[in-house]
Amino acid sequence: MTAPEPLEPLTEDWTKALAVVAHPDDLEFGAAAAIARWTAQGKEIVYCLLTSGEAGIDGIAPAESGPLREAEQIESARVVGVDTVEFLGQPDGTIEYGVPLRRLITQAIRRHQPEIVITNNFRDTWDGDALLNQADHINTGRATLDAVRDAANRWIFPDDGQRWNSVRQVWASGSPSSKHAVDTTETFDLGVESLKGAQGVHRGPQLAAFRPGGVPRRHLPHDRHTPRHHLRGAVRGVHRLIRTDRSCVVHLVFSGSELRTWQTRG
Ligand SMILES: [Zn+2]
Repeated sequence: MTAPEPLEPLTEDWTKALAVVAHPDDLEFGAAAAIARWTAQGKEIVYCLLTSGEAGIDGIAPAESGPLREAEQIESARVVGVDTVEFLGQPDGTIEYGVPLRRLITQAIRRHQPEIVITNNFRDTWDGDALLNQADHINTGRATLDAVRDAANRWIFPDDGQRWNSVRQVWASGSPSSKHAVDTTETFDLGVESLKGAQGVHRGPQLAAFRPGGVPRRHLPHDRHTPRHHLRGAVRGVHRLIRTDRSCVVHLVFSGSELRTWQTRG
């Protein structure tokens, strides 16, 4: 078997990023340790959550779990240096791809004016094979790609803020098509802490949120669903070399990212 190609390092010559994801804990399952690295560099990152994850806890009704998960998400963001967290009130589990969703994300991009937009894997699967992704993630990612282009066009959604055409790249964390990554060796523990908060570990396993893919945590063997285990697993999943200027070195890699750029006009 031939070794996979080394992952290219993500650029770090930017100052502001906007992360757009479907649910509380989506960022904590891969990107949070990278986000901790970037905020430590002095970069600003804003979280934009399309839902409040209100359908994610089997034992708690949405009216109660939504505010609970919002509070946990805000705390998880704080752990990795993110002060601004917005919730856009879309329905957890039934986010629809379409023009209204593009408009909502366009508004957020124009409001926050990022250079980098971060979202989650929008491919059909997590592993490029059989492990199914969820509709909310797919719809969110696809609409985010479109909204970056919409935000740059003054004639699209003209009443929804001033156009913003300075997004340079979109990064989709956890994509099976990842070709880029960032070294999170130094901030791995912050990523674990952030995931613990977002997963409601402090609430106890019975009331913790669903794992991605909708498998309730209580249906998993106990030793396999600690936050640290999850993130180690995530690391292994994209554990590849990052190419550097001089050589290839092994790092604790995660937030393997699929990257998108596009040709801009005028
Ligand atoms: Zn999710």
